[in-house]
Amino acid sequence: MSENTSIIWYEDFLGVAYRYFDVRMNIALMFPERKKASNLWLETVHWWNDHTIKVRFVETGDDYWFIIGADSRKPSTNKYFYKILPISDNYDRFKKGHHGSAIIRFAVYSKKFFGDVKNDELCNCGHRKDDHDDEQNNDCLYEECKCKKYESFQVNLLKKKKVVTNFKFLSEKEVKDDSLAWNCFNRHKYNKE
Ligand SMILES: [Zn+2]
Ligand SMILES: [Zn+2]
Repeated sequence: MSENTSIIWYEDFLGVAYRYFDVRMNIALMFPERKKASNLWLETVHWWNDHTIKVRFVETGDDYWFIIGADSRKPSTNKYFYKILPISDNYDRFKKGHHGSAIIRFAVYSKKFFGDVKNDELCNCGHRKDDHDDEQNNDCLYEECKCKKYESFQVNLLKKKKVVTNFKFLSEKEVKDDSLAWNCFNRHKYNKE
């Protein structure tokens, strides 16, 4: 296979969230800012030919490569996306729970602090806001918990979406037989070794 050097790869996003929403599993690429995310969608994914959208998950030990791309009706601004992410419970749940199709969308990821949330909202440590000290550092009051400061996060899914049915879970050995995964690995890994 020869590399398709015209592909522009984009990895400047925070990660991927997997969410059930409207029955189907959603794969959400997370961005820190709504405006930037919507603009990027409008110049890239918006123009994708739906039946050409492909997603590849390539597991490499504790991490996996998330790779997505498609043919575009507006190739001049098209981009493919990839990101190396730690294998997580949510990823495993998606891998086992999808039924052959998923929804692609963008999302805005924001951190929330003590003053931003109601008493019953869980901290990243797993305990409620009102289990945290409300006077000084907002550290967790559970003795066994190491949390020093209340912090949680919120993922807001943006409305625009596309359906993808062509996704594959690959090992790195199988990358050479898949043009999308191979293009990504060739550019970002093999050419650098
Ligand atoms: Zn906490
Ligand atoms: Zn805690």
